[in-house]
Amino acid sequence: MHYHIILTENCNLNCRYCYEKSMQEFDNGLGERFRFDFNEPCVSNVEVARLKKFLSQDKEAVLVFYGGEPLLQIDKIKEIMDNIDIPFRMQTNGILLDKLPPEYMDKISKILVSIDGGKERTTRNRGKGTYEKVMKNLQFIKENGYKGEIVARMTIAQDCPDLYEQVISLVDSGFTSVHWQLDAGFYKEDFDEKKIKKFFEDYNKSVSRLLEYWIKELESGRVLKFYPFLAIVDSLIKEDPTKIRCGAGHAGYAISTSGKVVACPIMNNIEDFKAGTLETSPKKLKKFDIKECSACDIKDLCGGRCMYWRKATLWPKEGDEIICDSIRFYIGKIKTFLPRIKEAITKKIISEKDFEYEKYFGPEIIP
Ligand code: SF4
Ligand code: SF4
Repeated sequence: MHYHIILTENCNLNCRYCYEKSMQEFDNGLGERFRFDFNEPCVSNVEVARLKKFLSQDKEAVLVFYGGEPLLQIDKIKEIMDNIDIPFRMQTNGILLDKLPPEYMDKISKILVSIDGGKERTTRNRGKGTYEKVMKNLQFIKENGYKGEIVARMTIAQDCPDLYEQVISLVDSGFTSVHWQLDAGFYKEDFDEKKIKKFFEDYNKSVSRLLEYWIKELESGRVLKFYPFLAIVDSLIKEDPTKIRCGAGHAGYAISTSGKVVACPIMNNIEDFKAGTLETSPKKLKKFDIKECSACDIKDLCGGRCMYWRKATLWPKEGDEIICDSIRFYIGKIKTFLPRIKEAITKKIISEKDFEYEKYFGPEIIP
């Protein structure tokens, strides 16, 4: 299974959006919905020997360094890697990537780097100088021999529906793996029906444009790893029903800063999502399901988007339905392209294998 280890809740950036803000905004209703443990430390106090003992019981364990910003705990990362021999991944804002020595960097074979598109957009969302620093650091690690996968991890804010332009900008800058998540449904205060409807109208058009581009690229032999598209096509080809695609609470867990095991990394201090502790056998961790989606006709393809969003219900029902309509729209659109994709496979321009990917290492898949 995949385990995200929360090394710190601290971050060295102040982005316009931040999921973790919702953990602190108790006036938005979360305090009534969930039980919180306020004793969770800000920085991980999990001893490496304790972590090792837990992970050694899972022969398929993959550890994902996560925060806050995990590279603020660079010594802990090194200590873990010096003592535990399993595959590593990381989700980072990229600002400190040049601080991790190449011999450690090389062992983290997939990284998700937060970047929201071109320079202008990333600067607006994530702060002045962020784009330049991240791009410089990515260049630096590549020059130092890094050969792993680098996934551009975008957040699409509600006032910026131009997904197509931003993804193309990333592709033009050399990214071939991209994932995006919508900042929708994660804060109570940001629901404005009129604005959201307009956002999704424009965003859906942008998704269609991006899909057209992606299909044309694959028809010329290049399958770009746009995770929200890739995973759906893989499932359609294999006719493989999915549970929640991020893996939360069934194939992936997070290790909290005190050593609890919780369903997902943004649930560090939410008791309701506790699945066990590092003393629990991985096989005996509590499983979670999204009953809220059980009646949905596309559940086997969607999987439920996000368990936190589904359980927190910060937006009114009509808001969540607008999000689901957008999921329905993009999955439906992909289905219309399936004959073209299958034709490209039959003609051996591409192969079914091009759509296979490692599940649960970070991309949540459904935006
Ligand atoms: S479309 Fe909405 S209701 Fe249906 S499975 Fe996805 S999140 Fe659940
Ligand atoms: S998508 Fe999954 S991992 Fe991400 S916040 Fe939601 S439940 Fe957690």
